[in-house]
This record gives sequence, C-alpha cells and structure tokens, in this order.
Amino acid sequence: MQKLIACTPKSLPHTRLEEAARHASEQNPANAPPLALSQLSGFKPTKEFIAAMTTKYWGAQGVKLTVSFMDTTSAALRTRILSHMNAWNRDANVSFVETQQKGQVRIAFTKGDGYWSYVGTDIGLIPSNEPTMNLDSFTMNTPDSEFHRVVRHEAGHTLGFIHEHMRRALVAKIDEEKAISFFMATQGWTKEEVRAQVLTPIEESSLRATTPDPNSIMCYQISGELTVDGEPIPGGVDIDELDHALCAKLYPTPSHEATLTRTTTTQHGGTLLFLPETDPAYIAAVIAAATR
Ligand SMILES: [Zn+2]
Repeated sequence: MQKLIACTPKSLPHTRLEEAARHASEQNPANAPPLALSQLSGFKPTKEFIAAMTTKYWGAQGVKLTVSFMDTTSAALRTRILSHMNAWNRDANVSFVETQQKGQVRIAFTKGDGYWSYVGTDIGLIPSNEPTMNLDSFTMNTPDSEFHRVVRHEAGHTLGFIHEHMRRALVAKIDEEKAISFFMATQGWTKEEVRAQVLTPIEESSLRATTPDPNSIMCYQISGELTVDGEPIPGGVDIDELDHALCAKLYPTPSHEATLTRTTTTQHGGTLLFLPETDPAYIAAVIAAATR
C-alpha cells in the first residue's frame, strides 16, 4: 500500500505578495479587493491585507494553459495526467494542452517534495526553469484513485481554487501545536493565520457567508505528521457536483451566458475567488478577521 501524501499549499514568499497581487489584478481587474473595502470610513488596509485579499482568478474568458514536464516522462503518463487535469472541463471552459516547449504549467516529479501547486495567476510569476506543480512519485503504477484525488486537486489550485475549510470532526484530528509550527515554517503564516486557515471548522468560519462543501476536491489534505493519531486526512476524493458548478460559473463555456457576479460565487465555500462587494456584514467579518 502506497503511503498517502497530502497537498501542502504553496504560495509565493511574503516578500513577493505585493507583486503577486499586482500581477493578479493586471491579469483580471476582478481580482482586486472589493471596492467597498476602501470606502469604509476609518479602515486603512495595509499592503499585506490588500495582497491577501487579492484573488488569483484567470478571468471569465476561460482558462487555456499549456503544460510541460520537467522530467523525462512516458507519453502514457503524460496523457493520463493531462486527462485528469482536463476533468475540470466537463462543464467549464478549461483546457490544459501539452506542449514540448516550456509550458505555463510545469510539472515535476520530485520525490519527497510532496504534492503542491501554485494558485491561479501566481504560476505566471514562477521562473520558467522551475516547476509550478509537483506530483512527487506519480508513475503509471499509481492507483487511479490517486489520479482523481491528487492530480485533479492540484489542477484545481492551478485554476485558482484554494483549500476548503474542514469539518469539525477532521479539525479535531489535527495536532494544534504541530500544525502551527508546520504552517508558520512552510507558509510564513502567523499563528492567527494557521488558526483561521487550518484549525477553524467550517461552521465557525466567519469568512464563509454560505454553506461550504465538505466533499469538495479542494477540501484540505493534511499530512499524518500533523494529526494526533498520525493518520493523514485525504480530503475530497474527486471533483464533485458543486466543484463542477463553481468552475462552470467562473469559467463559463461560450455556449453559456456569462452570468458571473461576485455574490453568487460565494455559494461554494471552497474558494475566496470572489468577495461580495455589497454585504456590509460580510465585509465587517473580513476586516475583523484580518485585523484581530
Ligand atoms: Zn491543496
């Protein structure tokens, strides 16, 4: 039985957050923090706050990204990986296309480095000789269930999706101290950020206006090193209907009317891609979380 590996969120170093936010807003103006934030009296957002509130959305025109591999890889494995990444296009205007040149998505198989991908438009800021995604030790012998669970999840990050908050029962399995030191070291997060991102069950999350989806493919994956009983938490196992629906809404196919609004996208809790501009209670909660 293969050892289960969990995804470790990969973000740009804090020193590059401003650059990432600028890049994201240039890629798509909708990525900028909600206007309403700057109109609140007495609230002066810091650069860090603006960076954290900037999303990594590719834009309503859809996503077409080229994909290359850093290592020598069999055609069969390349095709299999691409087919799982393209599972996101069932209802949405998303396509990943292999290239022999350097792709916009660059996949490595660095053993021991775990599974990760940079998020959305951030991949454009990674030097072209470095990977944007790592699939650790994937081979043709890897079980199909892992292609569903891992490759689709990492492709979700590339599309701009972040981790879904977890259910209370899963949060209870996490060793608080280990999680705090792990994410502080690997993500540069503060203790408060770790609490908000990893240790807060979905029903308590003040940033989630509507019901999140605990079965989302983007549900957190947590390494066994961080759990009380040493068992990893696998998270969602495949793209579910709500994931497909969100992706279709964000990246509508040309045949669909683009009915994208900021508020409707929060129906799914798996992402902070959009923030409702108009709900004062929501904005107050965001500010409270960011400034406490
Ligand atoms: Zn992940």
